[in-house]
Amino acid sequence: MFGIIVKESFSAAHFLRGYKGKCESIHGHNYVVEVHIEGEKLDSIGILWDLVEAKKILRGILEGLDHSFLNEGSPLASLNPTVENIARYIFLEFKKAIPPGLIIKRVVVWETDKSAGYYEER
Ligand SMILES: [Zn+2]
Repeated sequence: MFGIIVKESFSAAHFLRGYKGKCESIHGHNYVVEVHIEGEKLDSIGILWDLVEAKKILRGILEGLDHSFLNEGSPLASLNPTVENIARYIFLEFKKAIPPGLIIKRVVVWETDKSAGYYEER
């Protein structure tokens, strides 16, 4: 199995509903998102999928979240905007655009440089 990883970032504000602690108050993050993509076959020049294309798709998804307030008016407004839910949203959006023969292994969303959440399908 071969794999590629694309990484991009976005900034957004959120708070966590139903959570007791610092994160129940509105605050912001510079989120870093990794999309891990796998496939079994390389093309004639040894490439799984053009990283430029993969990054363009990820950037397009993140543009819809960048500088937003995730709890209101964003695609995540109906969910609690945790890193886990953000990862699942990005996974499902990215899945719509991925070429046949490739799979998304995992989407990781880093909230700080020390903590992240992820989503994958099994
Ligand atoms: Zn937070």
